[in-house]
Amino acid sequence: MRYISTRGQAPPVSFLDAVLNGMAPDGGLYVPERWPDAFEGEVERANCANMSFCVAASYVLEALGGEEALTRDVYDAYLGSPPAPFAFPMHVAPLVQIGPGEWVLELFHGPSLSFKDIALQLIGVMLDRELRARDQRRSVICATSGDTGGAAVEALKGRERVDLFVLTPKGRVSEVQRRFMTTSGAENIFAVEIDGDFDACQSLVKALFADASFAAQAALSGVNSINWARIAAQSVYYHVAANVLCAHGPAQFVVPTGNFGDAYSGWVAEKMGAPIGKIVVATNANDILARALNSGRYQRSPSSLETLSPAMDIQVASNFERILFEALDRDAEHVRRLYAEFGESGGFDIPEAAWVKLREDFQAAAVNDEETEKAMQAAYDDGGYLACPHTAVALAAKWKVDPPLDARPIVHLATAHPAKFPDTVERATGIRPHLPPKCADLFERAEKFDTLPADVEAVKRYIRGRSRAWR
Ligand SMILES: *Cc1c(COP(=O)(O)O)cnc(C)c1O
Repeated sequence: MRYISTRGQAPPVSFLDAVLNGMAPDGGLYVPERWPDAFEGEVERANCANMSFCVAASYVLEALGGEEALTRDVYDAYLGSPPAPFAFPMHVAPLVQIGPGEWVLELFHGPSLSFKDIALQLIGVMLDRELRARDQRRSVICATSGDTGGAAVEALKGRERVDLFVLTPKGRVSEVQRRFMTTSGAENIFAVEIDGDFDACQSLVKALFADASFAAQAALSGVNSINWARIAAQSVYYHVAANVLCAHGPAQFVVPTGNFGDAYSGWVAEKMGAPIGKIVVATNANDILARALNSGRYQRSPSSLETLSPAMDIQVASNFERILFEALDRDAEHVRRLYAEFGESGGFDIPEAAWVKLREDFQAAAVNDEETEKAMQAAYDDGGYLACPHTAVALAAKWKVDPPLDARPIVHLATAHPAKFPDTVERATGIRPHLPPKCADLFERAEKFDTLPADVEAVKRYIRGRSRAWR
């Protein structure tokens, strides 16, 4: 299987190169050149309901063109050597019923307690193995205001071939989130607080990649949400959950999302044969996706708003380009034109025929903070379920979608452990959630981080002095 760019001007590459490159050199995103079936025939597909997560993952990744070594990576990532990285190694993502016809798919049982662990654990194993085979090293860099940093630290700590530099805005991440980045104790992990906001961190990362000679000398690599491995790994839990519930008809998924990564992963699973009905895109007040799907215009707003669900406080939904490419019947030239318009004016109208197609697969609703808190409260009062604020955005969106969802199974994706947001959860429900036993000592662990000004040269010097990949 080859991977092509949504902008049509980059040479096709293998699965692994798509993962190592991150973004295509023409500025587009990689997608497979065709959509394969994940399973051969009905029987095998139905069997996926009884497979362990890692067996299902090896089918899906093999269909998507991952080579044989990837199957071993999958076992290392999800079963691991003891202690296993996930609290439920067999299922990784347990399906929990919260009401008649209604479930929560818990994606937060990995080491940093957010759904990002599911993809990043695999990326960590895969990167290290592939770089050893190529006798290379990489400096992985990421800017994060939330959960990606912690998941990347857990995935890359102690890895021989990679050093990780995480840039976070000083004082803008929660204490639990910060501690997941600063307490690994690993020598190849560098948590850096930047004197500035998240946009400043992101501009620094962009500037580092834009300096071609620096990027080459430091062998820079990224693990952000446009990375193909993230989409591929995230599509696995949709296959399993949809097949578990399929006796009652195709499941409808409600997905809290900002970058459109998780919602798009569901669409990918459906394309590869999973019995999925509508996918509901649930956003917070940063509602570019909900506006795009409901109005037909993709338009950024002047600035992002702070909400109770910070991992979705995103202005531009990067992965939207991938679904637009499909809705435009893979017309890369058309994608290029629309994104050129987006670059100039901050928006574009989705062509009518493409918009109609998007609405066949997706519905959308935006949820404000008050509705988020009410949903947390209701889930606890009605069924004793403690939801994190991101999960609550999905719970609330179900009530808001128009037309309403039908009687077939409804699955809400639960993307973070409630204990990652203890203050918000306590305010809404009166209950202060506890950290699970494996990280109960998070607040006692020693922290290690450095502070730098929001200055590109200072960050370059910092990386140059520490990266084992430097040449
Ligand atoms: C990152 C994140 C999301 C949003 O993920 P997308 O890639 O934007 O779909 C939702 N919830 C939590 C807890 C997250 O960390």
